[in-house]
Amino acid sequence: MNIKYLLQIPIRTRFLIGMLLMLLPIIILGATAIYSINKTAGALEKVVEKSNKEILPVIRLQKVVLQAAMPPNDFLIDGNKSHYEKFRNFSMEIDSSFESILASDITHPEIVLQAMKEWETAQKMSYSILDLKDPMTNVDAQQQMLILDLTMDRIVDILNGIIDPNYNELGQRLRSAQEIRWKVYLIIIIVFGSGLLVAVTTGLALAMSVIYPVRVLQYGAGQIGEGNLSYRIKLDSKDELGQLAGSFNSMAEKVEISTSMLHELATHDGLTGLYNNREFYRRLRDEFNRYKRFYRSFTLLLADIDNFKEVNDKYGHPAGDTVLSMLASNIKDIIRETDFAARYGGDEFAVILCDTESNGALNLAQRLRKKIEETPIPINENRFASITISIGLATISDDIESEEKLITIADNNLYKAKNAGRNRIIAAQSDKIN
Ligand code: GH3
Ligand code: MG
Repeated sequence: MNIKYLLQIPIRTRFLIGMLLMLLPIIILGATAIYSINKTAGALEKVVEKSNKEILPVIRLQKVVLQAAMPPNDFLIDGNKSHYEKFRNFSMEIDSSFESILASDITHPEIVLQAMKEWETAQKMSYSILDLKDPMTNVDAQQQMLILDLTMDRIVDILNGIIDPNYNELGQRLRSAQEIRWKVYLIIIIVFGSGLLVAVTTGLALAMSVIYPVRVLQYGAGQIGEGNLSYRIKLDSKDELGQLAGSFNSMAEKVEISTSMLHELATHDGLTGLYNNREFYRRLRDEFNRYKRFYRSFTLLLADIDNFKEVNDKYGHPAGDTVLSMLASNIKDIIRETDFAARYGGDEFAVILCDTESNGALNLAQRLRKKIEETPIPINENRFASITISIGLATISDDIESEEKLITIADNNLYKAKNAGRNRIIAAQSDKIN
């Protein structure tokens, strides 16, 4: 099953289709069972109804026929005339039974007519026995009675011709009902089995189609939550979870942009684009610790514009800003990428020259000082400001026990440079001013 195709369908529709698929076998099962049971029960009902209609009157008739043989038999035993009347009653009952059976919608009326014919014979024989004057002594009478009994039995036998086929049909119907019952069981097992298969497959597909994207979302949310803001959730689906992943990604993008903006604002100086004072202290501490652990040397350079107030006074504050920016970009141009430049405050700049001893630092400071001195800064279309800078250097060494001490040395050197007439560099490794 292609999960990617499933992911293009909305979850709502997916669940609706899934539920219908799961319900379908149950509906088929129910309909089939109802149809089969109705069919079987209907057929059985018909047979039972027909049998009741045909068999019961015939059985009653057989019973009366057998009873009708009793009065002639008793008459031969006791010669009592009352048996005549008894037979007449049975006889009338039998006649009317035959008539009503024939009048009903019977399957085999010829059998009834055959039995009726025999009955007529039996009736005549019975009356002739009952009319005898000397029933108890008459020798022929016993013989006649025997024939009458046989005739009565024959009537019963003939009438069985109606009962037996009905029983046979009933038996047949019962057998086919049993067959249908097994068929229904089989259908139930097959449909239930396939229903179970469909339900399991659909359930698994539905679960996978939700669990997989949820896992991808969960992982992505975890990554973004841990601060990996450049992470994007890769969920190629058009459903609700795909839309959620899209919203998550655009949210992460916005957070990433605002976080980097915030980071920029928190660590950089807005005017010059260099690192700010706080970031300078952090980096200086790092470099100091690195020296303590790995003896990686570095030099701190503090530069301050000479008589900057005059620049502001002469050209205006915005021009002063331009001068500050230009000095910053000159510093950036001259230092290595691994070095660190910050605006220390006002017109003062701090540079950490990594892996640099005092000689190298002095060299770089000279180049910077010279470049600033020799490069007039354009203030507007036809005006240039010429500035100089004073620099104080301090190179890290074992006797400098803290980063503050290093700053003090560089700061004092800068102070000395100013005092010595500006536009110069002092790199004394002492925190003493004189
Ligand atoms: P010095 O040679 O002794 O350094 O003299 P200075 O005139 O440069 O004196 P100082 O360094 O003490 O003065 C710094 C001046 O820089 C004071 C302030 O007006 C100016 N300043 C500080 N921040 C800014 C800024 O962001 N823009 C501008 N235009 N001027 C600033
Ligand atoms: Mg200054």
